[in-house]
Amino acid sequence: MESLVLSKNKLPELINKISSEHILYGPTEENNYSSFKQILNFDEMNLSYLLSRVSPKSILFKQTETLFKFIPGRKGSVKSSEIPEEKSVIFAIRPCDARSFSILDGVFNGDYEDPFYISKRKNTVLIGLTCNKPEQNCFCTTFDDSPGSSKNLDILLTELNNNYLVEVVTEKGNNLLKNMRSLLKEASKEEIQERKEIEEHAISTINRKMNLEGIVPKLDKMFDHELWHNTAFKCIGCGICTFLCPTCHCFDMQDEGTLKEGARIRVWDSCMYPEYTHHASGHNPRPARMNRVRNRVYHKFSYFPKNEDVTACTGCARCIDYCPVNIDIIDVIDKVGAILIE
Ligand code: SF4
Ligand code: SF4
Repeated sequence: MESLVLSKNKLPELINKISSEHILYGPTEENNYSSFKQILNFDEMNLSYLLSRVSPKSILFKQTETLFKFIPGRKGSVKSSEIPEEKSVIFAIRPCDARSFSILDGVFNGDYEDPFYISKRKNTVLIGLTCNKPEQNCFCTTFDDSPGSSKNLDILLTELNNNYLVEVVTEKGNNLLKNMRSLLKEASKEEIQERKEIEEHAISTINRKMNLEGIVPKLDKMFDHELWHNTAFKCIGCGICTFLCPTCHCFDMQDEGTLKEGARIRVWDSCMYPEYTHHASGHNPRPARMNRVRNRVYHKFSYFPKNEDVTACTGCARCIDYCPVNIDIIDVIDKVGAILIE
């Protein structure tokens, strides 16, 4: 991995160069609401953000996406949406969010192949930004991750005192920087050491940890435990925890339009809503909130580890920070661990 240095005052130039050749997405802040949006000008970006409220999964797996259009009742009128081919860059992704892409890859490019996601993923360069000051509920280190991890990223930037350390992780990242080498210089030993110390300090400030030891077999034995009723008692079923989660990927298909033209649209959905599993027959396999709260935990901490060999959580803590009734996923897993079962 090559380590380079970018002076802080050259960052706008780097960003402008990238955006002149690519569609650039970065963290923005509007009305106290942070999310990743297309950036046309360096000033639109908010790099002092800690963790965006909406994760950058929204770039590769859009909240609404038109799959095809049609004229109702007319045979052969279906016209598929074009598969996006634009070259894109997502800038300033936090390492925990970068990890979520490896989980989403298994969903959208595994047994089922989603051409929209696959094409966007292939044509997008992921540039990370080390988390110098993790938030109070962050727990990425639970998953052998780190606030300064370069896993799943093409380039990782770390803010030093005077510069950014730029680590080129993949060939894709190297190709992006080819025309920008004049802005960069080789990192000194001291700068590499400074980056190491920043990461170590950030790790030392992470106070929360999820104890996952033995959780998968334990969950097998407590499907009917009262814990799910007790947890669901507080839950208001708002779905915030799933919409903000970088690994959640439930969606629905809806046909919208008029008698003259229509479109099939994929929209984010949430397993916390009763309609999500409501069959056309009227039957609902998850009729009560308890069933849905339990499913959210089992999907991430039992079904994913069993089927994909990975826990579908990155430790970003969005579901903890934004749950309006303070349901805390670390506490729930702690309770699972503490329950005595024969
Ligand atoms: S379950 Fe919660 S902490 Fe884990 S990735 Fe999703 S939002 Fe983040
Ligand atoms: S954010 Fe909290 S209240 Fe809303 S659905 Fe999730 S657990 Fe329930």
